Amino acid sequence: MRSTPQPGPGEVQIRLRVAALNRLDLWVRQGWRGLEITYPHIPGADGAGEISALGEGVFDLELGTRVVINSNISCGECEYCLAGKENLCREWHLLGETIRGTYAEYVVVPHTNVMPLPETIDEITAAASGLVFHTAWHSLIRRGHLQPGENVLIVGASGGVNTASIQIAKHIGAKVFVVGSNAEKIGLAESLGADVCIDRSKVENWSKAVFQATGRRGVDLVVDNVGAGSMPLSMRAARAGGRILTVGNTAGARFEIDNRLIFGKHLSIIGSTMGTLRDFEEVMQLVCAKKIKPALDRQFHLEEAAAAQARLAAGEQMGKITLAI
Ligand code: ZN
Repeated sequence: MRSTPQPGPGEVQIRLRVAALNRLDLWVRQGWRGLEITYPHIPGADGAGEISALGEGVFDLELGTRVVINSNISCGECEYCLAGKENLCREWHLLGETIRGTYAEYVVVPHTNVMPLPETIDEITAAASGLVFHTAWHSLIRRGHLQPGENVLIVGASGGVNTASIQIAKHIGAKVFVVGSNAEKIGLAESLGADVCIDRSKVENWSKAVFQATGRRGVDLVVDNVGAGSMPLSMRAARAGGRILTVGNTAGARFEIDNRLIFGKHLSIIGSTMGTLRDFEEVMQLVCAKKIKPALDRQFHLEEAAAAQARLAAGEQMGKITLAI
């Protein structure tokens, strides 16, 4: 048992109804050099529920209001925060990473980190959308400047950020190419609107397949969150002057890059992580307007969090896994 967290000045307490899992929850469990957490640790970045207590000086929210949580906690005072680049904040924290998270009945966050939900959106959809749509929006739109009519290749068909990226790219009006690892995952990408899908269990050189599918031009933008094994192929699939976006590396962080591809093809390699307050608001408005929605996998109860994480670790999920609280 842990005590219920109480909101300080400028903070709100949320009675959580749903939490959503992210691969990050597994990474935090394994730990990494430099990660400092307090025990007992409460995982979970994503959540939705209702406001159950208001801290001193919070006047823009009311008790009982249903909200979705923005898991990116920033100081609001440093040079990056003042420039609206909160995800570069010097005192940046993520719920469930360095501070207590959403696998819980209550959580406390700054009042700027919640967004009221319209009646049309349920808590499962809202919680499942949070981190992945936020991350994908910042990457594709803010960092990648994806434009209508552009070709975008998304490497990986089923992960949370990738499925969010497919939907955002379609919403923007891009043509979406997806490389997936099997027929089932390709099916998910197709159901989300992907235009050209390549099954890499059948097509070994997917980079060449993409190149040929674009009339030997290559794609304008590649989203590669796989890293090891795929990045060289992603760079080959990009057009001259193309951009490569990366928000992570599910298959490993260290790999060789042929530098001739970068300068010879005028490639831009663009790193991105998480998102800003403005990004969260923009993308959640699209979710609330039902222009985009998360692919949902199973829902577990909070008490079954271990089984839920095991499903995620095994890569069996087809969309977001959520916890009912
Ligand atoms: Zn800051």
